[in-house]
Amino acid sequence: MNKNELGVHVLSPKNCDIDILDNGRTVKDVIDNKIKELGPVDNEEPFYVANLDSMYERHLRWLANLPRVKPFYAVKCNNTAAVLRMMSALDIGFDCASKGEIQTALSLGVTPHKIIYAHTTKPMSHIKYACAHGVDMMTFDNEDELLKMSLCHPKAKLVLRIAVDDSKSLVKLSSKFGARLVSVGKLLERAGELGSEIIGVSFHVGSGCTGGSAFKQAIADARQVFDIANLLGFQMRLLDIGGGFSAIGDFQGKFEEFSVIINEALDEFFPPDCGVQIIAEPGRYYVESAFTLAANVFAKRVIFDEMDEDNGGENSPDRIMMYYLNDGVYGSMSCIVFDPAHSNLEPYLHRVNIKPSRHMRKYRSVIWGPTCDCIDKITDGYWIPELHVGDWLLIDNMGAYSVSVSTDFNSFERAHVYTVVTAETCFRCLPMPILSPVQNLILQSIVYALIILSKSH
Ligand code: PLP
Repeated sequence: MNKNELGVHVLSPKNCDIDILDNGRTVKDVIDNKIKELGPVDNEEPFYVANLDSMYERHLRWLANLPRVKPFYAVKCNNTAAVLRMMSALDIGFDCASKGEIQTALSLGVTPHKIIYAHTTKPMSHIKYACAHGVDMMTFDNEDELLKMSLCHPKAKLVLRIAVDDSKSLVKLSSKFGARLVSVGKLLERAGELGSEIIGVSFHVGSGCTGGSAFKQAIADARQVFDIANLLGFQMRLLDIGGGFSAIGDFQGKFEEFSVIINEALDEFFPPDCGVQIIAEPGRYYVESAFTLAANVFAKRVIFDEMDEDNGGENSPDRIMMYYLNDGVYGSMSCIVFDPAHSNLEPYLHRVNIKPSRHMRKYRSVIWGPTCDCIDKITDGYWIPELHVGDWLLIDNMGAYSVSVSTDFNSFERAHVYTVVTAETCFRCLPMPILSPVQNLILQSIVYALIILSKSH
């Protein structure tokens, strides 16, 4: 593992350089500049701009709405170094699903008790790794896993994941994970026989949850399991309400709506004085709006409908534009195929000096990704003004299940991540040395100068 000048572990292989938004610069300015910089050097690779301020705002919103629930960020959702460092700086815990994710969290200096190994089916070698590194909290939902854990990590603190109603969620998880309520008693008895320590219950209502009642029912179900476990003599002290939160597009306002329902259910079934710690495993919620993707139109085809009498002329309604972007379904946009909660992407044109006008002629357009595969289609039947080779398209809200899922199929490069943060946010919540010593020095000088200036007025 590499160490930086401060002796702090830096994450390979993804970059972690952070640009401070000084002099009123915005994310848009950074995108404009990157595109300008890339043009002359013939480097039209796709890139993201990751805005750490967006994650900080989401965190404040979490604290205000769910004060009893400590977030453990789901690393799988976006494992970019700067994202993880930001989470760590905000004192958020980590939900890791594998040895690799645990390694990453530990390399940031995260203490093992702030990690939950939240996967119900784990390779033995990964359980042993967790044991050797003091990561004790882990989930399970079946007897074979109990046996494996009692062999590989006898001191583990186990959290029983239950299957809950996921019918209101776009990404369903209960067909693969979670013990049914009817089997919980037998499973807990077996845990008692093996001498395993059960400390709590977890669930996940599914990603992209559309109905808050799913949380209420799941919390009531968890209470039942607590009661059975308490009767069997286990010291139950942890409830993990999983993920499923989003606050963009159709989910606008849902976070606040769900929070009210969750808080009421917690107060009813797990009142504040009951001695149970409440945690959650949000992924999407924290990062979705933080990333904007910029991709380049590197090729274009105009297709004419053969039945068209106008023979596909300028004015033909059957003239179809096809554009080819340098990022697609095999790269940052696998959500189109795998993530029903985010399958409609709406790329929009980036042009620094041209303002889009309502009067611009629009064409039916198909936007493809770069690979030699027809599944690599970003959007179809999209009515937009004509694009040209060399144009850049932007897509907002690309932080969740994008970077961490992308491949380099056909050897097209994965999008590079440029991270930005305002000085204000940086000073508020990044005491961790995510900046280089030089950047730290510059930042401190700016802040001192501002303090002196404000005092002199
Ligand atoms: N926890 C577990 C165990 C998961 O499987 C997932 C997503 O699949 C998450 C947390 C994160 O869910 P979300 O991104 O909906 O918050």
